[in-house]
Amino acid sequence: MRVYECCGVESVTKKVYCSICRQEIKNEREVPDEGTVYSYTVIHIAPAEYAELAPYVVALVQLKDSKAKLTVRIYGDVQIGDPVQLDQIVDGTYIYKKSNAA
Ligand SMILES: [Zn+2]
Repeated sequence: MRVYECCGVESVTKKVYCSICRQEIKNEREVPDEGTVYSYTVIHIAPAEYAELAPYVVALVQLKDSKAKLTVRIYGDVQIGDPVQLDQIVDGTYIYKKSNAA
């Protein structure tokens, strides 16, 4: 997972300019594809294209070794603070699963 940093703010979204200092963002680094569940919402009624997948969890994951948070989809039950890891990326959506190394 690549994160971009300027003025103490880290993001997984690549922005050309920092929203604080308006300078070009030059700092980027790799961090593990792992994290912990920061918050989550269970989606029971999904958009048509995901209807057969419901219910599923949309979670905000606090990435390990980073200040950046990432919105992901998780199948199965999770709790806040659960360790999770990247499973796959489908159509630009990050699919996470509970980490085995818990
Ligand atoms: Zn900045």
